[in-house]
Amino acid sequence: MGKELEYQVVVVGGGPGGLAAAMTCARAGLSTLLLERGRFAGAKNLFGGVVYTESILSLVPDLFSEKRLPFERPVTEEGWWLLSEKGVVKLTHTEAERMEGPPRAYTAFRARFDPWLAQKAKEAGVLLVPKTKVIDLLKEEGQVKGVVVDRPRDWEDQEPAVVRAPVVILSEGVNRLLAQKAGLIDRDFKPQEVALSVKEVVQLPKGEVEKRLGLKENQGLAVELLGEATLGLPGSGFLYTNTTTVSLGVGLFLSDFAQKGIKPYELLENLKRHPVLARILEGGETLEYGAHLIPEWGLEGLPKLSAPGVMVVGDAAGLVNPLFREGTNLAIYSGIMAGKAAVAAHEKGHFGSSSLALYEETLKSSYIYRDLQYFRKLKRYLQENRAWFDTYPQLFNQVLGLYLSAQGRAKEEVFREISKLIRQRRGMVNLLKDALKAFKLFKGW
Ligand SMILES: Cc1cc2nc3c(=O)[nH]c(=O)nc-3n(C[C@H](O)[C@H](O)[C@H](O)COP(=O)(O)OP(=O)(O)OC[C@H]3O[C@@H](n4cnc5c(N)ncnc54)[C@H](O)[C@@H]3O)c2cc1C
Repeated sequence: MGKELEYQVVVVGGGPGGLAAAMTCARAGLSTLLLERGRFAGAKNLFGGVVYTESILSLVPDLFSEKRLPFERPVTEEGWWLLSEKGVVKLTHTEAERMEGPPRAYTAFRARFDPWLAQKAKEAGVLLVPKTKVIDLLKEEGQVKGVVVDRPRDWEDQEPAVVRAPVVILSEGVNRLLAQKAGLIDRDFKPQEVALSVKEVVQLPKGEVEKRLGLKENQGLAVELLGEATLGLPGSGFLYTNTTTVSLGVGLFLSDFAQKGIKPYELLENLKRHPVLARILEGGETLEYGAHLIPEWGLEGLPKLSAPGVMVVGDAAGLVNPLFREGTNLAIYSGIMAGKAAVAAHEKGHFGSSSLALYEETLKSSYIYRDLQYFRKLKRYLQENRAWFDTYPQLFNQVLGLYLSAQGRAKEEVFREISKLIRQRRGMVNLLKDALKAFKLFKGW
């Protein structure tokens, strides 16, 4: 890496947030260095598997003129599967337009999507240096002025190299060690603020993804799995279809893994044994297995988004909305916002708090921040009303099971049985209270 280098912007982390920030800066003509610790962008990254077209178009407007899109399948059917011990209630949505028009979302693998986006960043003028970990920040006069990397400054003295830049954008993901060093975060995350998700990619015999999930070649399914998937604990699983494989995963808060003594791989094995999923996976071969943390601290854990010379974007800032499976898109949007603030700071020639605060202002006036505020209430509600995870999925299965097998019986008797079941499992008063609370929440009260 030579002696002391200097760029106008240094971005740390080659995930969607870092790539978006770097592209925005390079396209505005700033000399931009992106440092990624992995062998290539995406090498160390794992996610469930849905990326959102609109966010990608905001970086690559001519996406649809690509010869080969970096995706697996368009998502044409989405929703939730409520699992009981042996059954499932499938709540999914699809419509003709979604089958025909440009897809809103695609399934993807990070090991393919991130390198593709990284190539676009290089074409925009970003210098992407992989296999390079940022180990510290260079601070002078109370301002971040660059980064220190795990490469020797020169082969003689073996001191770590320093790269100077008046703006450093941190997109280092959930571990956010550098954001802590920058003073943007003053505490470690708590186990109840972070989910751990485990995932497998399972190869199915040829043509079986379509056959087993009722899809055509150019159609895809993305469903979240609730209830038995998480043993009734707050969290969710997922099943996403790829070209010839399916991605199956499940996640819980770290605190629940610890308190209940559940091992992550056991949770996934339990899910794979569910009769409905076992049938889908039958004869399949596991190609990949991995685990990753998801920041779910929301507004309570939101760090300072900028300080003199430094900004933090994406997962490192906790910009994730697990209920809507939003993560990559929020990383991209926040990366673009931070990139624009870096460009504006260079135009002014001022990199102090007031200049970079533009990023915070833009983010706070976007839907990302409004959602953080709104979902603070929803998160608390779901944590306090665990019935949505342990009681209702079972109850929906039982009620529908009774209703749909009512032929040959007096229906009055069936309805009486259903009402008895509801009273036993949740109680009419609690049911009404839950419905009212949920209604109030969605009304924004
Ligand atoms: C199981 C799971 C399922 C998910 N499913 C979805 C989904 O379906 N759809 C969706 O939109 N989102 C999903 N997410 C969330 C999504 O993956 C993240 O929100 C998104 O990847 C955040 O992007 P980022 O750029 O902020 O961070 P990351 O993608 O984590 O990228 C951080 C990068 O920084 C690099 N890095 C870290 N430290 C250093 C350092 N010191 N020096 C140099 N490089 C460093 C890492 O190697 C990595 O490449 C899921 C997450 C998980 C874990």
